[in-house]
Amino acid sequence: RVKHPEFKRNPSFAQIENKDLEFFRSVLTPNNILYDTNPDDTSSSLIPYNTDWFNLYRGSSSLCLFPTSTDQVSQILKYCNRNKLAVVAQGGRTGVSGGASPVFDEIIVNTSKMNKVRHFDGVSGVAVVDAGVILESLDQYLEPKGYTVPLDLGAKGSCQIGGNVSTNAGGLRLMKFGNLHGNVLGLEVVLPDGTVLENLSTLRKDNTGYDLKQLFIGAEGTLGLITGISLLTPRRPKAVNVAMVALDSFEAVQDAFVMAKEDLSEILSAFEFWDYDSVGVVKREMMQDTNYPIEGKHAFYALLETQGSKQEHDQEKLEGYLGRLLENGVAMDGVMAQDAKQINALWSWREKIPESISKSGTAMTYDVAMEVPLLYKLVEDAKDHFGKKGLLGPGNLYSNLLGFGHVGDGNLHIMANLDGFDHDGQEAMDEFVFDWTMRHNGSITAEHGVGVSKVNYMKRAKSDVQLQLMRTLKNAIDPNGIMNPYKVIPDK
Ligand code: FAD
Repeated sequence: RVKHPEFKRNPSFAQIENKDLEFFRSVLTPNNILYDTNPDDTSSSLIPYNTDWFNLYRGSSSLCLFPTSTDQVSQILKYCNRNKLAVVAQGGRTGVSGGASPVFDEIIVNTSKMNKVRHFDGVSGVAVVDAGVILESLDQYLEPKGYTVPLDLGAKGSCQIGGNVSTNAGGLRLMKFGNLHGNVLGLEVVLPDGTVLENLSTLRKDNTGYDLKQLFIGAEGTLGLITGISLLTPRRPKAVNVAMVALDSFEAVQDAFVMAKEDLSEILSAFEFWDYDSVGVVKREMMQDTNYPIEGKHAFYALLETQGSKQEHDQEKLEGYLGRLLENGVAMDGVMAQDAKQINALWSWREKIPESISKSGTAMTYDVAMEVPLLYKLVEDAKDHFGKKGLLGPGNLYSNLLGFGHVGDGNLHIMANLDGFDHDGQEAMDEFVFDWTMRHNGSITAEHGVGVSKVNYMKRAKSDVQLQLMRTLKNAIDPNGIMNPYKVIPDK
């Protein structure tokens, strides 16, 4: 997959010439331009910008631009559109669908140097920020003001708000705060022809016609480049409690989830699960020196978090819930964090799963959505299918096939290591996972997006009418198709 054998470069796109470089040098200072005529050379400074986080996709762009203002982005896109130069918008490069790296020689426009908080209103909790602000940095900015960000993910130290909005990232607390379609109040977007769509509303309610910002949330950079975001942020909780429980079946995971909604209702902020194989990978790759919080071997673990305003009250509720789980034999064991350090330690076992598996070798990752009762059946069926073919296990084509995810959102991450970069091996796993998901009325991407990794499945995932409407919108906004070509919408 590293080199996209299944795509052909669109010959209608121009290639970079000296006159183009001269133009970009007239807009940006030299330290904000990376140019290398040999981007494939392993020593090229462009390698990181051409490659995705999991090292599954790699492009060959010779030019990466780092604008520092909306006006610079506007000048760049206007020029690229006129000269038919294809562009890929890039944030923190943590996306896992191959969306942020070029497929061929698209010019990379990276937002890392647009990283200022423009405004914060401590009454409404609305923050207006540049697209390149890192999620964790925004959270640190909000902390002393008593607010926090409405989403949290393992990549928070690197991903940017612009990337989060463009992927409609979900993450660990979606069940409490909802997704970005609700929390983004306004956007500033540079359209492909350089026009700036100034729609940085800070209003929670605004029914004046079409809600245009929604088009760009989850568009994965195919309709324009987001430069500013107006984001509704919640109050930072005064009390946070976390517990981990051990469960011996996926039915028990579901029972524990239903009971959590009953007993913890408004304070329940996360309900995550993972299987025993996930523990093994994290322990081996990243946590060798740390004892697992729960003794013995259990099929599943769940992590619950509560966020509220009164520590003793929330703790009492969580203790009562844990007691009920154990008394009824739903959970086999459980621990509750006693302080912030222990909270982080419990979260680590969940958050380190994707990183650990990528340290283990070439990692394939999927993020499907389906009805909760079906979530883990996919992992069991995949193990059965590839096991019977003799392809599963240490030293085989696939190893470390495991499942974890956001029970509260009906979102499963199934991951596996692949022996080397076996293209056919990856295709076979894609086909199994996506076909299974579609047959069970699920979504092939709950939160990561389509990018290049799933574009070939869009014809099966969407109806002809849906795809035609997507193409009509794309053609209306980006008639030259310069923004993030080859991704999201399949060719006719
Ligand atoms: P990038 O990877 O740079 O870009 C992603 C897409 O957005 C690309 O298509 C790109 O072209 C486009 N884009 C980026 N910036 C802009 C912009 N300003 N304007 C227009 N288009 C733009 N995701 C989840 O949803 N939930 C999780 O729990 C989660 N956990 C993760 C854990 C780890 C360890 C890792 C590595 C990733 C995880 N992700 C998760 C995936 C990833 O972090 C998210 O998709 C994130 O939102 C991507 O942000 P980014 O800034 O890195 O974007």
